Amino acid sequence: MFYVPDGTEICGFYECEDCGERFLDIKVVPRMICPYCGEIPDMEIGPDEEMPETHEAAKLLQVVEGLENVEKMDGLLSLAITGGDCEWL
Ligand SMILES: [Zn+2]
Repeated sequence: MFYVPDGTEICGFYECEDCGERFLDIKVVPRMICPYCGEIPDMEIGPDEEMPETHEAAKLLQVVEGLENVEKMDGLLSLAITGGDCEWL
């Protein structure tokens, strides 16, 4: 398993709207900060301003349920990254 620990039975499949990265995460939430391009604020924020909104560019595309499905998805995405076949969906 590349994205999630062995034995994961449910995870989220995300796509980042900023960098286009697709990945799995063990958290299942509607949106999350992209682990690839996130954490860098887009604009400067003064110390007296409100807390900046977190830039959650990665949105949940699909909830992947079931050990086999998670493993399959993880494998396909890992392949895409390591230069395997692109037609994984
Ligand atoms: Zn991103």
